[in-house]
Order: sequence, then structure tokens, then C-alpha cells
Amino acid sequence: MDIQELSERILAGERRALARAITLVESQREDHRVQAAGLLERLRGHGREALRIGLSGTPGVGKSTFIEAFGCMLTGLGMKVAVLAVDPSSARSGGSILGDKTRMERLARDPGAFIRPSPSQSQLGGVARRTREAIDLCEAAGFDVVLIETVGVGQSETMVAEMSDLFLLLLAPAGGDELQGVKRGIMEMADILLVNKADGDLKTTAMRTCADYAGALRLLRKRPQDPEGFPKALTVSAIEENGLEKAWEEMQALAQWRRAQGHFTARRAAQARYWFEAEVREALLARLKREPVKGAMTALAGQVENGDLSATAAADQLMREYLMV
Ligand code: GDP
Repeated sequence: MDIQELSERILAGERRALARAITLVESQREDHRVQAAGLLERLRGHGREALRIGLSGTPGVGKSTFIEAFGCMLTGLGMKVAVLAVDPSSARSGGSILGDKTRMERLARDPGAFIRPSPSQSQLGGVARRTREAIDLCEAAGFDVVLIETVGVGQSETMVAEMSDLFLLLLAPAGGDELQGVKRGIMEMADILLVNKADGDLKTTAMRTCADYAGALRLLRKRPQDPEGFPKALTVSAIEENGLEKAWEEMQALAQWRRAQGHFTARRAAQARYWFEAEVREALLARLKREPVKGAMTALAGQVENGDLSATAAADQLMREYLMV
């Protein structure tokens, strides 16, 4: 593969080149990793910046319906929109909650949109790296908005929040007691809560639910990266395409404020640091599972079991001899 040509085609905004490059960054083959690193390095410093929007919500809450309607609204405004999915279920079981091809047909046909389903990799670490690299590629290809979708499972929400400029949580209309079911940590990550399905019979419930969430948000500690009134809760109807423009206005207002205050750049810098540290931890853990460290660990574990060495002394010895620390 000619990396120089691929990078030029990506910068020219060619979809097929972008798709190919994402396939490259998804590959675990060693030679592909080298090529992918070369490509990403070549694309650095292109000076383009997309708004990265993370979106989470449990299955059935309306994520695909929302992304389709919202994505089409943005392309209608002349924007280029990329959608990436992070689906931890596909890593675990091979089956995917988000990945099926019939989703978002209208957006998939839209020439202003690019949709990429979740890869079925075995480790969340691998998915995180691939998604970050795919975001970089979409940005280089000149997309204005990159939507990163995930289901509310395990660590995937934190992971997506750590890659996004804005993080949205899509919620269903519910009784007051169900509100307690949203984990506090996730509420704290969200910038905007969207109560979906505010239409028909569900409209009144949705409005009440939204007011309940707004109340709950007011009880959270104020974050320095928020202007007055954020995080906030809004109602939308993805099916009737109601409230989407208002939601977009709020997203833009928040992004604009954060840009002006320096929080936008600071957040990206903190995220870059977070992922650097995560990569170092992963690389160290990977070394523990490879020879010669693996064998040395087994031998030392034997000595610890026999009582010949303390756990602390054995760990110290391993670190000194193999990890040079
Ligand atoms: P996902 O699993 O989060 O991607 O949810 P889907 O987008 O597949 O939607 C799940 C179900 O909720 C489908 O039957 C949708 O038609 C329905 N749904 C999605 N958005 C709305 C909405 O705004 N109003 C109503 N009434 N139903 C919706």
C-alpha cells in the first residue's frame, strides 16, 4: 500500500481512501500497524478540526434513529458528518448491538455522511486505539462533525467520553424511580441529556422525565468547563425530528464557550495525555504476558508459593531484571 498516496487521497476527502485507512488502523497485523503509524504521522498537523460528539444510551433508547435524523439535519446544513460506533458487545460475543447494516439507511445513502460500524476486536484497549485513530482520519478527511456512538455497557462510555469534545446521553421517558437507575458517574460525564421519544402518548412523560433530570443535574458539583446552565437536559423526538435544531444550537453554544475559554484545547490535551498513559499501561501489561517475562514470573511465583521469597521482593526482582525499573 502506498501510504503517501493514501494520505493525499484522505486529505482530498475521498471516502474510499478513508474506509481503507480505517481498515488499516483496525488491523492487528504487525506490518499493518507499522503502515498505520506511518500514515497517521504523515497526516498530523493538517490543521483541520472536527467537533467530536460522543453519544451513549442503552439499547432501544433510539440512538440509531437519533443519529440518522440528526446526521441528516447536519448534512442538510452543508456539513460533512462521520459516524463511528464503539460496541463492546461485539468484542465479547462476536454479536453486535450497534453494527447491523440496516441501521441508518437514509444517512448511509447521504453523500455528506460516512458511517463505520464497530470493529469486533477482542480487547477494549484495541477498540479504543482504533476509534481514536479513526477519529483522526475522519478529521484529516475534512469532516465537520464526528459522532461516536456507544451503548451504555461497561467502560465504553468513559472511553468515548475521553475521545469527545461533547458527550451526550440519550435517555428514555421514564417514571421517577427509574431516574435513579442512571449511574451518577455517567450523569457527571454528560454535557447534555437528551430525553428522546417526546412524542405522542410519551410526550408528557418525556417532559416530566426531562424536568426530573434537570433537577438532578442542578445537584451535581459545578464543573469548570461548563458555562451557566450546563450540563442541561432537553427533550427530543428522533422520529418526528423535533428538538434536534435546539439540541444542535446548545451543542454549538457549549463548544463555542469552551473554545473561547480555552477549555476545548485543554480538554484535548488532557485526553491526549490520558491515552498516552493508557497506552503505556497496556504496553507494560502486554510485556508481562510475553517471554521472557512470562516465564520469569512463573518461576518467581513458584518461589513465592514455597515461601522462599516474599511477594514484594519477588516483584522487585522482576521489575529490576526485566522492566529496568
Ligand atoms: P437504539 O437501539 O438505541 O439504536 O434504538 P433505535 O434507534 O433502534 O430505536 C429503538 C426503538 O425506538 C425503535 O422501535 C424506534 O422506532 C423507536 N424510537 C426511536 N426514536 C423514537 C422517537 O423519537 N419516538 C418514538 N416514539 N419512538 C422512537
